[in-house]
Amino acid sequence: MSTEILNARKGEKKSGFLKVPGCGYELPVTVIRGDGEKTALITAGIHSAEYVGIQAAIELAEELSPEQLSGRVIVAPLVNVSGFARRTMSMVYEDGKNLNREFPGKPEGTAADQICYAIASELFPEADYYMDLHSGDGYEEMCSYVYYVGAAEEKIRRRSLEMARQVESGYLVESGCTTGGAYNYASMTGIPSILIERGGRGLWSRDEVELDKRDIRRILKHLGILKEDGIPENPVKEQLVFHQVVYEHAPEGGCWYPAFRAGEWFRKGDVLGEIRDYFGKPVFVYRAESDGMILYQTVSLTVVKGGPMVAYGVRPE
Ligand SMILES: [Zn+2]
Repeated sequence: MSTEILNARKGEKKSGFLKVPGCGYELPVTVIRGDGEKTALITAGIHSAEYVGIQAAIELAEELSPEQLSGRVIVAPLVNVSGFARRTMSMVYEDGKNLNREFPGKPEGTAADQICYAIASELFPEADYYMDLHSGDGYEEMCSYVYYVGAAEEKIRRRSLEMARQVESGYLVESGCTTGGAYNYASMTGIPSILIERGGRGLWSRDEVELDKRDIRRILKHLGILKEDGIPENPVKEQLVFHQVVYEHAPEGGCWYPAFRAGEWFRKGDVLGEIRDYFGKPVFVYRAESDGMILYQTVSLTVVKGGPMVAYGVRPE
């Protein structure tokens, strides 16, 4: 990179591009540096149709100033630039890959491998803390929640959980996934990391963007990086931690009829949805394997064979 941007001096704010060798993409990056030494990295748009986080990150990069910081904030608001420009939903335009399955990437390979490699090799080594902003994809509705990695080293797990606790949501997910995803990989390399989920269906609203921004500011304040006073405490006092999530994929393609909404609870054995053929005949009925709550689900009429259908948190014991 543009080490020039990363080397922003105390009191400076610099914007520019992280150049991805190979595919040649340029990812927008803003660095804001106050006094102090800790660095927080914020990324969004790893999934390019998850607009709430992208807009929130663009605004945070504009709004944060060096005077407000004790430390450095690096904001990369749109990681999948080609997917965004071509509106591919969330896959990388050139290779159809999901960036959040390819970390840490590699310098050879296709565009997605190279983009992941650029983020993992240029930005992660700079970061003491990492926040990644997501939503449901363009065809998914979602109940807002936060992920952190449970399998990370104990100190990293605890710090990540503390960051997650600052998010204005009643639900946390302790993930067992240690590979492929950006925050998963970062956690396993020793960076306290979280992934915030809010919004979906290819939409964004002022309220959701403000919530994302408030969460990030509250986390930065908690970490001692934001000096600003007057940041309200998290109004959500009770947060449920899911330790097990069922990610159910569609065994058949066709039309999909979910039975619940994101955020609703159900009992083991309840029908969560049905796939029908183009004559309206049921071809598959999906029943819950345990009590739980819908975290996110496909709400487009289309369901793709082998693609996401419904994801739910299993009710903790
Ligand atoms: Zn996502």
